[in-house]
Amino acid sequence: MTANKSAGGSKSKDGAQKLDQLIAEARRSRAEREKGYREQSLKIHPWICARCGREFDRSNLHLLTVHHKDHNHDNNPPDGSNWENLCIYCHENEHRRYLDHLDGAGADVAEDPDRLSHKPFAALAELLAAKSSKA
Ligand SMILES: [Zn+2]
Ligand SMILES: [Zn+2]
Repeated sequence: MTANKSAGGSKSKDGAQKLDQLIAEARRSRAEREKGYREQSLKIHPWICARCGREFDRSNLHLLTVHHKDHNHDNNPPDGSNWENLCIYCHENEHRRYLDHLDGAGADVAEDPDRLSHKPFAALAELLAAKSSKA
């Protein structure tokens, strides 16, 4: 018996596993970053929805989300000036209005701007390209 852990042990499967790993890491780092600014915003701002005024406590805090006023998730000033605590309903509303606004301006936006402002997979592609050119 060899110490080969992968069932089958073909090379292509190994490569796919590496890609899976990279994707998982990209996802995790994004999740961690989001958790980071959420915690900070919840420390700076009161646990109240800035739109409807609904108050939150530990039991329902998961319904309170952090919105980026300029819709740019990479803009995270430590003083919290770009963050707004919104309940999930008002948050969704805010994004819908933002999309409507873009639609009205003739912009071609079919997706959630939150996702468009993040390009984890573009970064991943660059990373892979850099790796394969070295090998
Ligand atoms: Zn609200
Ligand atoms: Zn938002």
